[in-house]
Amino acid sequence: HPEKWCRGFNHFISQCLIKDFEKRPSVTHLLEHPFIKQVHGKDMSLQKQLAELIQEQQQLGSIAKTRHERIHTRRPYHVDRADKYSLDDDLVNLEVLNEDTIIQQLQKRYADLQIYTYVGDILIALNPFQNLSIYSPQFSRLYHGVKRSSNPPHIFASADAAYQSMVTFSKDQCIIISGESGAGKTESAHLIVQHLTFLGKANNRALREKILQVNPLVEAFGNACTAINDNSSRFGKYLEMMFTPTGAVMGAKISEYLLEKSRVVKQAVGEKNFHIFYYIYAGLYHQKKLSEYRLPDKKPPRYIDNETGRVMHDIVTKDSYGRQFEAIQHCFRIIGFTDEEVYSVYRILTGILNTGNIEFAAISSQHQTDKSEVPNPEALDNAAALLSIGSEELQEALTSHCVVTRGETIIRTNTVDKAADVRDAMSKALYSRLFSWIVNRINTLLQPDKNICSAENGMNVGILDIFGFENFTRNSFEQLCINIANEQIQFYFNQHIFALEQMEYQSEGIDATAVEYEDNRPLLDMFLQKPMGLLSLLDEESRFPQATDLTLVDKFEDNLRCKYFWRPKGVELSFGIQHYAGKVLYDASAFLEKNRDTLPADVVVVLRTSENKLLQQLFSSPLTKTGMFCTALLTFSLLQLPYSLMDLLSKMVVGQPHFIRCIKPNDDREALMFSHERVLLQLRYTGILETVKIRQKGYSHRILFEEFVKRYYYLAFKAHETPLGSRENCLAILEKSKLDNWILGKTKVFLKYYHIEQLNLFLREVI
Ligand code: ADP
Ligand code: MG
Repeated sequence: HPEKWCRGFNHFISQCLIKDFEKRPSVTHLLEHPFIKQVHGKDMSLQKQLAELIQEQQQLGSIAKTRHERIHTRRPYHVDRADKYSLDDDLVNLEVLNEDTIIQQLQKRYADLQIYTYVGDILIALNPFQNLSIYSPQFSRLYHGVKRSSNPPHIFASADAAYQSMVTFSKDQCIIISGESGAGKTESAHLIVQHLTFLGKANNRALREKILQVNPLVEAFGNACTAINDNSSRFGKYLEMMFTPTGAVMGAKISEYLLEKSRVVKQAVGEKNFHIFYYIYAGLYHQKKLSEYRLPDKKPPRYIDNETGRVMHDIVTKDSYGRQFEAIQHCFRIIGFTDEEVYSVYRILTGILNTGNIEFAAISSQHQTDKSEVPNPEALDNAAALLSIGSEELQEALTSHCVVTRGETIIRTNTVDKAADVRDAMSKALYSRLFSWIVNRINTLLQPDKNICSAENGMNVGILDIFGFENFTRNSFEQLCINIANEQIQFYFNQHIFALEQMEYQSEGIDATAVEYEDNRPLLDMFLQKPMGLLSLLDEESRFPQATDLTLVDKFEDNLRCKYFWRPKGVELSFGIQHYAGKVLYDASAFLEKNRDTLPADVVVVLRTSENKLLQQLFSSPLTKTGMFCTALLTFSLLQLPYSLMDLLSKMVVGQPHFIRCIKPNDDREALMFSHERVLLQLRYTGILETVKIRQKGYSHRILFEEFVKRYYYLAFKAHETPLGSRENCLAILEKSKLDNWILGKTKVFLKYYHIEQLNLFLREVI
């Protein structure tokens, strides 16, 4: 129908104009447009939309203006500059380059609340330890698809660069966020997801909502309050956001690494269990449902009662816990978990809390000193009831175990200590498998709709947020795993920033100054080499039933003969490692046990009889057939994990990386406090000085002639032409676009980090 068609067409054109307008800073420009003038009065929805846009635009203008003014009034040495970007936004512009000048620059910026600073294409983020009003949707708009130099450095600009690069080149991207615990990695990851969801405007609002709920949900289960950070991630996370070829969000996927499950059963002084336990306890308390889940209301369960007495009061009076529980219920619902699933999750969580309350006492008779019983059977009944298993069977699995000798099955009793270990091993296994299940379920619920887009032609931006380097007074197995992971990330960073770049200069016959950097490859080899690396040795020793933590350290000492490993005198179970980020002394007690990470078959067998379908499922898959009855212990070795991270890193190599380096300005979580010493240390071990040098001198983009011509031929040729991917054609394009400082190698064009942005902008103008 012509009239209907006409209305649709008008609407379409208006949308296009508005889209265009979003990128332009002028309100009048749009209102003066003859087409808008013509339809404005007739189209109500258009009127409304315009009014909103104008209002937003005005706000934006005032934000930009205030920021602009602040920068210029507080930094008089830049008043001559017309734009909002200033030269000291990028460390690469420093004329005198050394640790002192870098740190001074960062300190000055921090005092100005400029927490972000570029080092070429790398972003340094200082934790502000206060809420800044620079993350609103207005800011998302401000940083949308504009030149990097249009605005001060921002995490949105980095997210934007990754997104634009993905859309322009149809290439997967990955954003690697690194830094110590408490430096701001997780916050940065959230902000990136926020901006990417904004950019990847899905038509599907529900999907966007879901994606935004993923982090809060996963973090309730995987984060905890530690001595360093009230919301410390106790697992590593790689979140992939998937997009259609045109850049609309279509799904998401999470991979989790190394959940610190020992926290479920024991926390260091001043630290807490995973958030969810407090949320659920407080939530059920307020909903008057503690008795339904068989939880005591006088004294909190042992697993969350780290500092006896005080916590009970804290938990139930801290109404944020209760509110968080409601928020989590909301997350579950939005993401699409069924009520039945959520109910099962709660039963398992409260089942774990009740399991922690089971106690053991020795039965002392003359002959049997190693037998134990449960002196508080009500705790046992409660746990069994919530896990939907038989209470007698549970007791049996905890206090005895089967062994098969010469084809015969014999039941042996457990000592009190052993029984307590089995109980805790069960709780840890329940929790970590529940966590993995939740993550997998989220992945299923958020996987792209096959009708919209297949995985093959989709693209993604991956965001790696993984625990930072840790060095405490006592460092155990968990710290070793975490530090190895960081060692791998540093290696990946070095590869990208230094090694690959310099190798290519050579092979392309380009004379560029080499920058020295600390290569941590030998150290990584010491950890990962097979069969003589530290992890292989640990694995080997874990297989010997007679091995002890001491024989393990002896084994390390005998085999790891390099400068990175040493054994301090006088402390039997300790050994030291010279990590890239500093020396760490490890305490090897319980290393073998933690690495074996065993769960007796007896327990698995009982849990599999559960009437809770979810619980049954948690224990059905990885069990080997031979493990079914009373044979050896079932091992799910943690050892796989450092290797799996390696896998991930190698996958990421094919994507275009973007680095965000988070820095913690002080250890007191104080706003505006800048500890020279602490920052210097972090700058040193992340190799920032070297990074600045290489970004100043180096060519971070190296593109094959053919690829270059394919991408940019528009700049010098007609759209219908198909020029050859030759050196001459590259030259033509480069000259036409009036860039300087590039180099042509034998097969590749060498560009500075800022060239790509310039080229892309030209390209957008031309297209
Ligand atoms: P990490 O993941 O590196 O251990 P987090 O991201 O959890 O550190 O940050 C620790 C704390 O620092 C946060 O809980 C928050 O209070 C504060 N923080 C970090 N980044 C920001 C930011 N951009 N704005 C405001 N506060 C921040
Ligand atoms: Mg974190």
